[in-house]
Amino acid sequence: MRCPKCSSDDLKVLETRPGKVASTRRRRECLECGHRFSTIEEVLHEDLAVVKRDGRRESFDRTKLAMGLRRAIAKRPIDAEQINALLSETLRRIENEFDSEVPSRAIADAIMHRLRKVDGIAWLRYASFYEDFMELSRFAEEILNLGGGKKGDEDSD
Ligand SMILES: [Zn+2]
Repeated sequence: MRCPKCSSDDLKVLETRPGKVASTRRRRECLECGHRFSTIEEVLHEDLAVVKRDGRRESFDRTKLAMGLRRAIAKRPIDAEQINALLSETLRRIENEFDSEVPSRAIADAIMHRLRKVDGIAWLRYASFYEDFMELSRFAEEILNLGGGKKGDEDSD
């Protein structure tokens, strides 16, 4: 484990708390630069299959999700901690809703739902990376909603 800011591995654990079922959250502090962030330790979801829109299945890959998010937030004022929290929340929700198979669309929707509240630009970028989302009509609709600043009624949680 290294500090996401300065890459130092001189870290202190501030707090450890059990997450859902097989995960553990840790609040850490970098002793080098003082940056605080959270990590989550969890069972790899090797048994969770992601079903793509064309019906192909691939194993669930948190790293891939994280990489997509990092691309989306590049140069946006969002820190690693917010992204970790967003990923963890998304994973929890997916774990709650799906047993062995999850449609890729459901994962993207869950991420975008949260990302939108964090940063509109990052959300748009993420949406544009995600092939399933590029159904033009819906994409245009989302852009219009974003521009109008109107609160969706889905934002209840
Ligand atoms: Zn650091």
